[in-house]
Amino acid sequence: CGIVGYIGFREAYPIVIKGLQRLEYRGYDSAGVALLDHSSKLNIYKKAGKVAELENFVIGKDSSGSIGMGHTRWATHGAPSDRNSHPHESGNGNLAIIHNGIIENYGPLKEELISRGHIFNSDTDTEVLIHLIEDIQKEAKIDLQQAVREALKEVVGAYAIVIMSKEDPEMLIAARKGSPLVIGVGEKEYFIASDATPIVEYTKNVIYLNDNEIAYLKTNELTIRTIDNTVKTPYVQQLEIKLEMLEK
Ligand code: GLU
Repeated sequence: CGIVGYIGFREAYPIVIKGLQRLEYRGYDSAGVALLDHSSKLNIYKKAGKVAELENFVIGKDSSGSIGMGHTRWATHGAPSDRNSHPHESGNGNLAIIHNGIIENYGPLKEELISRGHIFNSDTDTEVLIHLIEDIQKEAKIDLQQAVREALKEVVGAYAIVIMSKEDPEMLIAARKGSPLVIGVGEKEYFIASDATPIVEYTKNVIYLNDNEIAYLKTNELTIRTIDNTVKTPYVQQLEIKLEMLEK
C-alpha cells in the first residue's frame, strides 16, 4: 500500500516513520521498517495495526542506520498479522524487501522454491519474490543488481518494491511495474515513496520511475536501468505540491 525509503547521511528512522504517517491517509492494516547501517547491521520491526503501535514497539530498540525503508500494508495475500507484515527477508537473512501490489504467479514460484529447500515465514506473495532473488543470485553467481533484474523477468503482476542488502550496505534498489514510485533527489541523499507526500518537505526535485525500470541508489549516485539492462537517463521534475497543502 505505502512505501517510504531513505539513503543518505541522516538517521533514517525518523524520516521513514514521518513518511509512513504522511501515507496513512491511503488506509492500511500493518506497518513495518527495516534499518541498515554501513557496518551491515540490519534491524527489522513490524506490527499489525497502526504506525503509532509500530513506533511504541520500537521504543528502546536499536533504530540506528542511515539507510531505511518503511511499509504500510493493505493485505492481499495472507491475513493482516505481525508475520505477514513487511519488510520480508530472504532465507539467509541478507536481503529485505517491501512491496506494493500483487505477484500473481507467486504460487508456482513458491512451490518451486520450497522444492529447492526454501522455508517461508509468511503467507505473502512478497516473501516469494525476495527468496526468488536470493535463489537466482546464489545459483547464477551474479551480483544483486543483476539478480533483481532476472527475478523480475519471471514475475507476473504489479509491483513497486524497495530492496536492501546486508552485503551491499551502501545501496537501495527500487523497481516498479504498474504501481507508482517516486524518487526524491536531495544533496547526497535520496528519498523513495509511493507518492510525493513523504518527500515534499525535503526536496522538490523528483524522478518518477517508469514501468520496468530499476533504480540503484547510493548516497551520492543514482543509476536507472530497465529490466533488459538498458541504462536510462533520469528525468528530474519539479514537484508542484507544497508542504502547506499537506498540513491543512
Ligand atoms: N501483496 C502484498 C501483501 O499482501 C502487498 C500488499 C500491499 O500493497 O500492501 O502483503
